[in-house]
Amino acid sequence: MASPQQQSERGDFVFAPPPRVYIPVVGMDARFPVHRVYCVGRNYADHVAEMGGDPKSEPPVFFSKPASALVINDDDVRYPQATNDLHHEVELVVALACGGRDLSIEQAEQCVFGYGVGIDFTRRDLQAVAKQHGRPWDTAKGFDQSAPVSALTPVAQASLAADAGISLEVNGEARQRATLAQMIWSIPEIIAELSTLFELRAGDVIYTGTPAGVAAVGRGDSLAARVEGLSPLNCKLV
Ligand code: MN
Repeated sequence: MASPQQQSERGDFVFAPPPRVYIPVVGMDARFPVHRVYCVGRNYADHVAEMGGDPKSEPPVFFSKPASALVINDDDVRYPQATNDLHHEVELVVALACGGRDLSIEQAEQCVFGYGVGIDFTRRDLQAVAKQHGRPWDTAKGFDQSAPVSALTPVAQASLAADAGISLEVNGEARQRATLAQMIWSIPEIIAELSTLFELRAGDVIYTGTPAGVAAVGRGDSLAARVEGLSPLNCKLV
């Protein structure tokens, strides 16, 4: 029996429905169908400090991006409008195979489908204005092509150590270098915490925050994002 959402995919539309968003999966022909994209801010103390914050008094925060902001297959990213200060943020991406509300740490752990490497592109100048006036971050974070992501490695195939290295190079030069052990909230903690705010679903994708070293990039720059044990992400700005 089809769900109401599946039924609504049949029949006529006033224009062609927007394309659905899928992420490739390492070693499989089947793709990961995306539901929502959540992001964690302030999840590495040294990044909180470089942004002028106090990691002890400011816990991590959640925000989101539209699923249509994802960029797959190492496709080029068009330098966005309305900014003179586009920053890279390399992040571990967690993809969910199930969900729910108010998940325990154990339930949260069991919901992970796999992992990827992502870049949370940020219009830092717009974010600074938003922070100054206490406004939402949407224009700083949720713009088109703001979320490149690598192919996902399923949990069973991933050799993701708790202290795996996470890094980003721009034109071959190191910009960000840290380990996942530096995350303030662990992967299951992030999922459990997020599930107290939203009913999580299979297809949800979570960007888990960035370490220190964020900086501006421009047209023509080539970015290489890595998490040890996962498929890498390469991205060129055009
Ligand atoms: Mn981020």
